[in-house]
Amino acid sequence: MPSRLGAVGAAAPTDTHARTPQVPAPVPPDPADGIRARRAGAAIARVEPITTARALRGPFDYLLGEELVGRTRVGSMLVVPFGRQKLLGVVVGLADGSELPRERLLAPLRALEPGIPPELVELARWIAGEYCSTFARALTLVLPPGAAKRLSGRRRRAVAAPRHQAVGAAAAEAPEPGPDQAAALGPLLEALRAGAGGRFLLHGVTGSGKTEVYLRAAEQALAQGRGAIVMVPEIALTPQIVARFVARFGDTVAVLHSRMTPGQRYEQWRRLREGEARVCVGPRSAVFAPVAELGLIVIDEEHDASYKHEGDPRYDARDVAAERAARAGALLLAGSATPRPESVHAMPLLSLPRRVDGRPLPPVEVLDMRGQRAGLHPVTTAALAAVREREGKAIVLLNRRGWSNFVSCRSCGRVWSCPECDVALVLHRGGGYLACHHCGHRERAPAACTDCRSTAVARHGAGTERLEHDLRHALGDATPVFRLDADTAARDGVTGVLGRFERAPSGVLVGTQMVAKGHDFPDVTLGVVVDADSTLRFPDFRAEERTFALVAQLAGRSGRGGANGRVIVQSHAPGTRALRFASVHDAEGFVTEELKRREAFGYPPYSHIVKLQTASPDHQAAMAAADALASAIDVAGGRLLGPTALFKRKGLERFQIELKSFDRALAVQEVREAVELVSASRAGKDVKFSVDVDPQ
Ligand SMILES: [Zn+2]
Ligand SMILES: [Zn+2]
Repeated sequence: MPSRLGAVGAAAPTDTHARTPQVPAPVPPDPADGIRARRAGAAIARVEPITTARALRGPFDYLLGEELVGRTRVGSMLVVPFGRQKLLGVVVGLADGSELPRERLLAPLRALEPGIPPELVELARWIAGEYCSTFARALTLVLPPGAAKRLSGRRRRAVAAPRHQAVGAAAAEAPEPGPDQAAALGPLLEALRAGAGGRFLLHGVTGSGKTEVYLRAAEQALAQGRGAIVMVPEIALTPQIVARFVARFGDTVAVLHSRMTPGQRYEQWRRLREGEARVCVGPRSAVFAPVAELGLIVIDEEHDASYKHEGDPRYDARDVAAERAARAGALLLAGSATPRPESVHAMPLLSLPRRVDGRPLPPVEVLDMRGQRAGLHPVTTAALAAVREREGKAIVLLNRRGWSNFVSCRSCGRVWSCPECDVALVLHRGGGYLACHHCGHRERAPAACTDCRSTAVARHGAGTERLEHDLRHALGDATPVFRLDADTAARDGVTGVLGRFERAPSGVLVGTQMVAKGHDFPDVTLGVVVDADSTLRFPDFRAEERTFALVAQLAGRSGRGGANGRVIVQSHAPGTRALRFASVHDAEGFVTEELKRREAFGYPPYSHIVKLQTASPDHQAAMAAADALASAIDVAGGRLLGPTALFKRKGLERFQIELKSFDRALAVQEVREAVELVSASRAGKDVKFSVDVDPQ
């Protein structure tokens, strides 16, 4: 039942604004709030209203009526009057008194149960500071799924969560751990038993049995009465790990993923909040799962880019996990076949150097594409023909979707580009349209030039759609070709495409980097990277790291479960360090060299980078705001790059500034002050600002 508290101590308006509820005055945060919160009976709730407005700074004081006093604690969710609106607010502190007179305080309209665990409120406070965001925005991360929609007051229809399949004992097989696994488990179990937290990096080649190590660690945490969070890059691409956790722990596992309805996700959240479930498996957002008595956080495939959140706050779930684990005294376990240099630098390393099936990793051949025609090297073509002869399976990776990269007129030179973004449109021949891969703009594919009427329209470069077509043509009907990229995933679903490839007796899977993620096809014998240069060319200090990871991950998909594997990488820069180390499966060697390079150039983890962007429909405004930011930031021992113009995107002109600093806290503080200053000034009018701390 909603509490009706409007009358209790609500503002007794005496002025002409009698009909409008007043906006409460903000109060400064008080570090003693957390202590007071534990005391029952405090009458004032300090509430942070959930709003995206950056200018609004809470918390605001509300007077609790009798029904809410004693029941309200840090993390309670209240519906509060705010100006003319009703807002959802989170209690971030409790107090006996307010700086405002009681008669000016409003009362909450009602409480929503159950609230957020107090430790997640504190985690949100930390995120807001660490990533230059607001407390309110950070709190949206820890709210129960669909919480904002519950404002309407309708009682949530109870939604039965999909019961996890009851799994027989056979499916829940626990191979005794092998010698490598046992060696890795030693320090992990010891740390769990000590209950003092700590963190470890598990470097295990693909197929080395990392999941079994995670399962054993979770088992130990549960045996000690503690809960666990297991983070995976994307549920659709990692069904095996989810299945194994469910098989081992049954109903004590809650699974979170984006394909669930808000009702289903809320039900999983509630089961965790009420302690019915003790283990949460899910993507990035699982780091905010309300697991009580947290004992373990696992980050599987810790190198994966999806752990970085791209909306405000631009948090990195791996760093948030480390912070949450440290606060809870939980063990952090990050695992990967291609660990990040940052992680190797920060954590003690445990190794699983061999595949559990005893098979060697497949040989990797790097083919020199200099002087070759674009497309497939003759060696690649022959290897694919051999797969067809054997009726085997292959995975071919090309990190560009669509038919061709751009379309131009042979007569007048016109290039079709996006009206909203300063980029060329990509041809999607099957759909008969040109598309912008930055804003989603689409238009019909041209039959003739719109400027000179010439019908000589040329297509340049090849994407996955074209490669799929060419392979079909080359391989014939007996060898089906399946395509996995953002386009087919939107149409058929990732699991739909992967399922058809898995069930087919033979075939070729073509796609973007999605094909190199965690899934496991035992009968794949050939992996091909068509254009390793596409990631190498990327103007970013992480270009080599990404290329190494891509090749190594694809190599891990090949030759598992019996058949001998082979991996082919096509590149115009075959001598590149990333490819040299990938060809001998030497992840630790690569990271050691990469860390030396980063130290020499002062890149992360030896420094911190903060990126700022200004965006406006008006070129001058975006540039002036960026200039103002650049002059407002006191670099203090760091280095400032820019402002640099970025290509126009979604109708917005953009400029970027990059700050490299050796003092992260100082850099964040400087940037925060500069953004507040400039956004409130004339230069900030009609300009959007975004801040990315530790960009990926
Ligand atoms: Zn033309
Ligand atoms: Zn566009």
